[in-house]
Amino acid sequence: MVETSGAQADIGIIGGSGFYSFLDDVIEITVETPYGPPSDSLFLGEVAGRRVAFLPRHGRKHHLPPHRINYRANLWALRSLGVRQVLGPCAVGGLRPEYGPGTLLIPDQLVDRTKNRVQTYFDGEPLPGGQIPNVVHVAFADPYCPTGRKAAISAARKRDWEPVDGGTLVVVEGPRFSTRAESVWHASQGWSVVGMTGHPEAILARELELCYTSLTLVTDLDAGTEAGDGVSHSEVMRVFAQNVDRLREVLFDTIRELPDTQARDCLCTTAHDGWNPGIDLP
Ligand SMILES: [Zn+2]
Repeated sequence: MVETSGAQADIGIIGGSGFYSFLDDVIEITVETPYGPPSDSLFLGEVAGRRVAFLPRHGRKHHLPPHRINYRANLWALRSLGVRQVLGPCAVGGLRPEYGPGTLLIPDQLVDRTKNRVQTYFDGEPLPGGQIPNVVHVAFADPYCPTGRKAAISAARKRDWEPVDGGTLVVVEGPRFSTRAESVWHASQGWSVVGMTGHPEAILARELELCYTSLTLVTDLDAGTEAGDGVSHSEVMRVFAQNVDRLREVLFDTIRELPDTQARDCLCTTAHDGWNPGIDLP
């Protein structure tokens, strides 16, 4: 374990260990936040000349279930390193028959069906420095960064992996999978894919004025979409393993296409315009 201060990164990836383990010269650092420790150390490396911080969302031993992830600490830690653009790959279930295993969908909308997660930095809880956040209501009509989405879609096409451009990710509490009735209901609403970690990552990123782009990999058809035995954990892991290499290539190509931090001109950068959050962002 190497502990350093002053380390910097521009782009963050919250995902599995498969995304950084092959990089040379990775620096592992621990980051403390006012919200406690993030899921694991952060791993700093370089991709296409960009400084990237990787954070294993579930911890490197995959010991954190979706409802136990310290989402606030994760986003705060990334921002404190200088990260302003975040990519969040995740495994999801397909809610339409045409979104079978291996589908890459870049959502443009989100429905939050989580139940017990802290999903704001502005809940009146004082920070250790004594600062008390103001009561604020962040605009979230478009939850994902339009620039990041465009970059991800372009990167996938270059790898001959035609992605689904847009759709709604419904995020459930987990850790269990949906019942057939829940799944049928999700599909009947017109939602596209179902996952367990895409929220509150997206809103916490927006509250910190970070760009956040979700790349969802369909690992299974959800219970209501097929007549079989429903989703199994082993099937999800098998399909994810099959696709992790090309997903990593798409992620790295996406990084190549992201603008420089200073050149961002998307809506994410103005989330605080017109109000005072009452806390200093790292
Ligand atoms: Zn953005």
